[in-house]
Amino acid sequence: MKCPVCNSESHEILKTKGKNTKEILIKCNECGNTFRETIKIPKMVDCRIIISQFSQSEKKQIKLYPDEILQVGEVLLVDGDEVEITSLENNRGGRVSKSQVSELETIWATSLAGPARVGVSIDYSGRVLSKKVEVERDFQFTVGDVVKMGRAVFRIKSMKTITSKIRKGSALAEQIKRVYGRPASHKDKFQYDLTSKIVENEDID
Ligand SMILES: [Zn+2]
Repeated sequence: MKCPVCNSESHEILKTKGKNTKEILIKCNECGNTFRETIKIPKMVDCRIIISQFSQSEKKQIKLYPDEILQVGEVLLVDGDEVEITSLENNRGGRVSKSQVSELETIWATSLAGPARVGVSIDYSGRVLSKKVEVERDFQFTVGDVVKMGRAVFRIKSMKTITSKIRKGSALAEQIKRVYGRPASHKDKFQYDLTSKIVENEDID
């Protein structure tokens, strides 16, 4: 908005009025002239969002401005809960990583509320014990950790994260899909106990 008198873009908003179109009264910082402008505020549109948490998903609506640009990885607030965009489906049926709201058909997201669910598999030379545990999203697992889980005590050998398989280092629970372990020796003291975090038994393969 330029001052009609001196062309300066430096101004102060004195007053605004209206809902979908706003009438604003502006004072130029340069010459002191006051003038009015009308700006259109785009109406928010309902957008379909599918939020998954663990193996369940829920369909909801979110109100967004049509000219807003969304991107995979961005965090949105839906009914007070944070969700992270995992994929965007546009109205041409394509999956894209970035799109304007007006071109969107569905937003795919995962819930960031609640704990992270991580699979744990312990390999007893061929017989695998698998469980699912729920821990805080920022709980850190490190390759080499000695862990108790039920009657088992194991050492983490590797981890499968969302993006890769790692054989050294650490990762946060929210990034980990599965932790792989081997039974620890009797001399090893466990560093933490996941027993109370077990939520689900998986079939033993
Ligand atoms: Zn001016």
